[in-house]
Amino acid sequence: MSRKIYLNGEIVPEEEAKISVFDHGYLYGDGIFEGIRAYNGRVFKLEEHIKRLYQSAKTIMLDIGLTPEEMQEAILETIRANLLRDAYIRVVVSRGVGDLGLNPLKCKKPTIVIIASEIALYDQELYEKGLHVMTVPTRRNGAEMVNPRIKSLNYLNNIMARIEANLIGAPEAIMLNNEGYVAECTGDNIFIIEGDQLITPPKYAGILKGIKREVVIEIGETLGLKLREELFTRYDLYNADECFLTGTAAEVIPVVKIDGRVIGDGKPGAYTKKIIEEFRRYANSNGVPIYPEEDEVKVS
Ligand code: PMP
Repeated sequence: MSRKIYLNGEIVPEEEAKISVFDHGYLYGDGIFEGIRAYNGRVFKLEEHIKRLYQSAKTIMLDIGLTPEEMQEAILETIRANLLRDAYIRVVVSRGVGDLGLNPLKCKKPTIVIIASEIALYDQELYEKGLHVMTVPTRRNGAEMVNPRIKSLNYLNNIMARIEANLIGAPEAIMLNNEGYVAECTGDNIFIIEGDQLITPPKYAGILKGIKREVVIEIGETLGLKLREELFTRYDLYNADECFLTGTAAEVIPVVKIDGRVIGDGKPGAYTKKIIEEFRRYANSNGVPIYPEEDEVKVS
């Protein structure tokens, strides 16, 4: 079945979802996006994703032209048009069509695209066995340059790191910031566990403030883990008891080897396994209902 795409207020078949080559999202990477998941008929952390989208937009002075409520409805409508209950949803808002100069004043209205589809980033086996990841030479953009907190269409920084990971056969790259502290991965946040301490780089390290990162921080608290949001180095990575990554596409995935150093006993750690279990339970029972009439049926 052909997917149905939301394009500037209309739901159209995939084949008709076309945008101009003069769109500044295409010409300059001038725009923002979100990746969102739906599990079991509910959109997980929808309000948080919409909030982050509007914060990214505000930071780059992009007027989306829809209220957050209208955006929420557009997202739900797109998922319903594709009859999905479990989905990966991509919302892209670009500066829109302009001329060949980069001046955004030439772009009169943004282009809004919503895609609802499926995604499987890693094989199930890797969630059980864990990833072998590597640090790479490309450093994460500094927060004082293009702040990584903006989820922008400029992913070249991460793509360069991803190319380096590909060259050495690693499924994901750990990026350091310009000071040499661990920042994040190309599409995920990173956590380590030392004893009962849950440690993750702070926002000012130059990271995207991941929504799954926030969920895992909450889960960690319920498991009695003490949160430390602080800068740390590769030394701390190598000597951690456990390590895992979080992201909308990857969810929570264990890391068992970094730069050839075995983490813990080389298997996903006990806390990591518990966090994965709790995350799945939480994600499957929370979120904005896609088909609200289903809930009414259940209630009555
Ligand atoms: N860091 C980067 C660079 C990302 O692109 C993402 C999203 N894929 C994340 C972290 C994780 O963020 P979230 O949990 O909101 O998906």
